[in-house]
Amino acid sequence: MAKQKKYIFVTGGVLSSIGKGISAASIGMLMEQRGISVTMIKMDPYLNVDPGTMNPFQHGEVFVLDDGAETDLDLGHYSRFVQGAKFSRKNSFTTGRIYDTVLRRERAGGYLGQTIQVIPHITDEIKSHIRDAAADYDLAIVEVGGTVGDIESLPFLEAIRQMKAEEGAGNVLFVHLTLVPYIGAAGELKTKPTQHSVKELREIGIQPDILLCRTDRALPQDVKDKIGLFCNVSGRQVFSATDVKNIYEVPLLFNQQGLDEEIAEKLGIWTGRPDLSKWASMIERLHHPETDISIGIVGKYIDWHDSYKSISEALIHGGAANHVRVNMVYIDAEELEKGNQQDLLASVDGILVPGGFGERGIEGKIKAIHYARTHQVPFFGICLGMQLAVIEFARNECKIVDANSAEFRPNGSSNVIDLMESQKAHTDLGGTMRLGAYPCQLLKESKPGTKTKAFLAYQNESISERHRHRFEVSNQFVPQLKEKGLVISGKNLNSETGEELVEMVESPDHPWFLGCQFHPEFLSHPLKPHPLFASFVEAAKKLHQERSK
Ligand code: GLN
Repeated sequence: MAKQKKYIFVTGGVLSSIGKGISAASIGMLMEQRGISVTMIKMDPYLNVDPGTMNPFQHGEVFVLDDGAETDLDLGHYSRFVQGAKFSRKNSFTTGRIYDTVLRRERAGGYLGQTIQVIPHITDEIKSHIRDAAADYDLAIVEVGGTVGDIESLPFLEAIRQMKAEEGAGNVLFVHLTLVPYIGAAGELKTKPTQHSVKELREIGIQPDILLCRTDRALPQDVKDKIGLFCNVSGRQVFSATDVKNIYEVPLLFNQQGLDEEIAEKLGIWTGRPDLSKWASMIERLHHPETDISIGIVGKYIDWHDSYKSISEALIHGGAANHVRVNMVYIDAEELEKGNQQDLLASVDGILVPGGFGERGIEGKIKAIHYARTHQVPFFGICLGMQLAVIEFARNECKIVDANSAEFRPNGSSNVIDLMESQKAHTDLGGTMRLGAYPCQLLKESKPGTKTKAFLAYQNESISERHRHRFEVSNQFVPQLKEKGLVISGKNLNSETGEELVEMVESPDHPWFLGCQFHPEFLSHPLKPHPLFASFVEAAKKLHQERSK
């Protein structure tokens, strides 16, 4: 008989943003390190069919998977904690997607005249999505988006309640994350919000098995016992999710309290203890860096750092690899345009221009790139950042004064960034994004005996990276760019159209000036920092050390 599949459902209570994604991912990491195969699933209670069209201002970054799925930033957390799972569009779905599937089936006559209802049709669809995503793994950890008590989450909660009965009590575990605030005036930790949120769960038929309590201090045993008593669990099943300096500490904190042991016991998963030594030494390096360096991120959504979540995490990973702490300095591109914040550019040890859409702040970003290129400051351009680096180089080195992108000047005469020929035939832009993983061939040497920075970082000539963009470097201008010294160090051959696409550019006469059309940040893991981020941080560290001599 096949191994029995296990499910852990993670719900959140009291309020949002108390760390449900990180908690779920930390459990995933611990269980994976115990030697079983783990996948993670996110169910979001909003009506957008996917988060691809949502404003990062409101929602944080769009995280892209290999298959081109545009998902929530929680999939980013999962990817940074769980290594073995192959995430795809199955791992993240919204109420909108569930309804869309059910309504299409209804229109196609798939329900043979039945009355379509939330129970059972919507809940059945939710369960089948969960089971489908969990199919190839021993354990699926399913995070229910939203907060218990929201109207929107009810169908998800009903579906997971049903799953416990269907899968068997020993195969399903409910983990509930709540908040235990410390009230200074009373000098007390308050358990009432937790009691209420568990009461609400029990009213809809879910008895949590494990409570994770977000607090600013470790819960004493008597508080755990009290929470247990009111919430119908033993004090042993109540864990502190204490605030930490660094999210990567969370799994260790849980492990020290015996959380994974308790889960393994309750689910009947017989494995050894996890080996967390590599993880612990990574944290050690983060806590005791040789030095601090600063990286300027020149962007538009500067007030909302979650829009660049994967980039800042990848920089932290690159820092751990180089024994440095990376301090992110957010620089507003529109302020640079007005001539402000130049001092920030001069003070940072590296400049990163991330991806983006739309014209706002573009000229400010180009200014930052020009500064980095002409002042020998390490520069990393990602997606839009690479496109702007090409524009800057075309304007200032190739003397194509009106060089621009078709994104901003659709009828411009010198669009060094343009739509591919095959895309120009489309009359609307829908569906023309290059999304997901594409292979890229690296150039090994820029001239005999000189390895490209790309090859030095990856130590490999064929790589695969994730994309999310519409425009490309125009091949028409490549000879001019090359003639003035820009090295095309990565290329993709489009097997359908035969077109060759520029994937990476770099300047060989600069300590580290590199742009890539893809998003390397999506593939970085704390124990396996992305080679480009590790190499960029290394160059910034070098500049920092030279400056402090
Ligand atoms: N706006 C650019 C394009 O569509 C870059 C996109 C990005 O940076 N993700 O090609």
